[in-house]
Amino acid sequence: MIKTNYVSDTARNMKPSGIRKFFDLASGVEGVVSLGVGEPDFVTPWRYREAAINSLEEGYTSYTANAGLIQLREEIASYMSRRFHVNYAPDKQIIVTVGASQAIDIALRAILNPGEEVIVVEPCFVSYAPLVVMAGGKAVSVGTTKESDFKLLPQQLEAAVTPNTKAIMICSPNNPTGSQLSKDDLEALAKIAIKHDLVVLSDEIYAELVYDDDYTSFASIEGMIDRTILISGFSKGFAMTGWRLGFVCANEEISAAMLKIHQYAIMCAPTAAQHAALEALRYGFDYVEDMRRSYLHRRNYLVESFNEIGLTCHKPGGAFYAFPSIESTGMTSEEFAERLLLEEKVAVVPGDVFGLGGEGHIRCSYATSMDQLREAVTRIERFIKKTT
Ligand code: PMP
Repeated sequence: MIKTNYVSDTARNMKPSGIRKFFDLASGVEGVVSLGVGEPDFVTPWRYREAAINSLEEGYTSYTANAGLIQLREEIASYMSRRFHVNYAPDKQIIVTVGASQAIDIALRAILNPGEEVIVVEPCFVSYAPLVVMAGGKAVSVGTTKESDFKLLPQQLEAAVTPNTKAIMICSPNNPTGSQLSKDDLEALAKIAIKHDLVVLSDEIYAELVYDDDYTSFASIEGMIDRTILISGFSKGFAMTGWRLGFVCANEEISAAMLKIHQYAIMCAPTAAQHAALEALRYGFDYVEDMRRSYLHRRNYLVESFNEIGLTCHKPGGAFYAFPSIESTGMTSEEFAERLLLEEKVAVVPGDVFGLGGEGHIRCSYATSMDQLREAVTRIERFIKKTT
């Protein structure tokens, strides 16, 4: 019998992901229509896959440079400059990571001293707050509301800043709300970040998936390039979740700190995946555009349908999620999601798992076929009629 308590307090106190918990529940039910998954329903375009296969055939099976293949970093630099008007030196300011997930991790570990606060804008991707805590920091949640289209208001940011605030973690277009910040929104937030000397961790993983307005990168706002850590990757827009490939761009000092952590913890991102990403950036944008158009069509259908059947839903500017309100049903989001799964076999994610501001909503991914979406809407409508 082991008497020692081997597990750290940090790990012990960490709550398991609310999304996982829900998927475990859904996996036990037959015939489920799932709007639950947070990844593209497209297989990675063949051209990118073939580039990886070719790289293996040619024998590229060893480590790359810690920061990633230099050709890939050069291609990322040119893409970021062309597309988002931000300039980074490929040899000093870009690190290729194991997904955006690892980019967030090394960014937080590179900047946080014990106890420093990170303002986490919620509802948000479930990893942010736990990663802040694992990096020794303190996550300070600030919730957004549907009244402001789930955008962080400047006065909310101002009110959350304390002498211990080091950074703000923000994501646009957002998971789970799809909310996209305009250039004006970003400029207003930037003023406060500059006033209080904050680092901005900007998760731009959904930047390729925007439907109405042009995309503005936080780093492109005046005065922000040196205080922004820009996180992005290939999982979403390029349909490459399983390849585990992302990247992070920052000023030279932060990049050097992140690279030290990256080289000790990871060494380098997977080599074949880097070859696929290189092909994607060189020749692969037609596929990205085709996928974007397909999501746009599905977004329009799902958001209109929700509003028609009485679930008010703001129009998400990007990503592939709708985040309708279920307040009219009088149920909590967990109760709604659980009953919808058991009674109508539709899997959605309860909004409360995404933090403050998420309760009263459900996250519905439209990265699934139109047939599945139509079936889901029919079932949800029946469920609402029955329960209200
Ligand atoms: N950020 C956000 C907002 C996400 O939604 C996700 C994936 N769900 C990630 C980061 C992680 O992406 P990756 O697969 O590149 O690690």
